[in-house]
Amino acid sequence: MQIGIIGCGVVGAAIAFELSQTHQVTVWDARSPHQWQATRAALGVLMAAMTPKLKGKHLQLRLDSLRLYETLIPELEALTNLSLPYNRQGILHLCFDGDELNRWSRTQQARAQQGFHLDILDQENLFQTYPHLRAAHLWESKTSVVGAIYSPQDRQIDPVALSTALIAAAQKNGAEFYFDTPISSFKSLRGDDPQSLTDVCSPTESYPVDWVIVSAGLGSTPLTTTLQQTVPIYPVLGQALHLRRQHPLVDPLPVVNGDQVHIVPLNASEVWVGATVEFPSEVGSSIEADPVQLKELHQRAIALDESLAHASILRTWSGLRPRPHERPAPIIERLPGYDNVVVASGHYRNGVLLAPITAQKVRQLISN
Ligand SMILES: Cc1cc2nc3c(=O)[nH]c(=O)nc-3n(C[C@H](O)[C@H](O)[C@H](O)COP(=O)(O)OP(=O)(O)OC[C@H]3O[C@@H](n4cnc5c(N)ncnc54)[C@H](O)[C@@H]3O)c2cc1C
Repeated sequence: MQIGIIGCGVVGAAIAFELSQTHQVTVWDARSPHQWQATRAALGVLMAAMTPKLKGKHLQLRLDSLRLYETLIPELEALTNLSLPYNRQGILHLCFDGDELNRWSRTQQARAQQGFHLDILDQENLFQTYPHLRAAHLWESKTSVVGAIYSPQDRQIDPVALSTALIAAAQKNGAEFYFDTPISSFKSLRGDDPQSLTDVCSPTESYPVDWVIVSAGLGSTPLTTTLQQTVPIYPVLGQALHLRRQHPLVDPLPVVNGDQVHIVPLNASEVWVGATVEFPSEVGSSIEADPVQLKELHQRAIALDESLAHASILRTWSGLRPRPHERPAPIIERLPGYDNVVVASGHYRNGVLLAPITAQKVRQLISN
């Protein structure tokens, strides 16, 4: 069976790798390699166990995807000979309110039943294990940290390295990739069945397909509009920073989270800090990165970890997260009105986390 995948961010790359094991796969991306829209900007935090939610479909997706990572990473490393920067030190969530710390004990019990471990650390335990967080406080109110939740099974992966490995592994399985190739239209040449697409078209070429997977992030909206079944997905901007401490800490270190900030250790000295969540003034209108929000993000991070106070800024960047309009993220479903089109887009803030489970869900959709 010939599968056509439109869009090769982390989601399209994960689907390509999964389906290339059993099908002929062709992938098109409008951009050059490594120029993905959202994926290039992501921090790669795989935060699944560390969510207060006790149950629900979305929580299940997150936990299932996190489980898949444990076998996916060694599999990709073996297939590609690439070494993937996969942080297995877990996530430490700082709490600034005793009630919040107490509320986590219910989540801790629920996670235990789901096969995940959470530790609740009081202030003394926290400072003993992570002395660099002794002065942690909320930037605005100056409230001091009272304890933390530690999730040893949550992870972090470099999204660019991951996507590169997924593409390389899919290529080994015979998948073909065409970059700088925007898909602009479709053909349906089966006169008896106009709802079945037969070709995917760039402005210059036409490619025969049995199935079409639309994993084009924000580009999925115009593509589905071409098929008269608009799936509205809008951008939410995120900014982040890459910092280098003056004095290295002792690594390995977990990802630290608190006050709407992730501090992602790359090594003993360098961290990524992210990310702002910036909405356009009106749904669908364009968004410019706001320097004030980036400055606040930086200050929040320093309030959590004082070792970042004199860190140099190596780089700042921004990206657009694809967020479905008026419905929960992500969208993984057959496109209504078509027999052979699946939409796997709109992963908003968790596309890296959810890429492996998305690929499995797409496999189920085309198998059914
Ligand atoms: C600052 C920031 C931090 C983030 N941090 C995290 C995090 O810690 N953890 C996490 O899980 N997620 C995180 N995210 C979210 C994550 O980046 C996204 O959910 C994810 O990258 C979405 O992947 P995607 O493949 O759907 O989209 P994209 O990466 O945007 O890829 C879509 C691709 O489709 C292509 N395309 C579009 N239209 C067409 C067309 N017509 N023809 C051909 N190709 C087309 C584009 O060129 C693009 O390469 C973050 C996002 C941002 C911005």
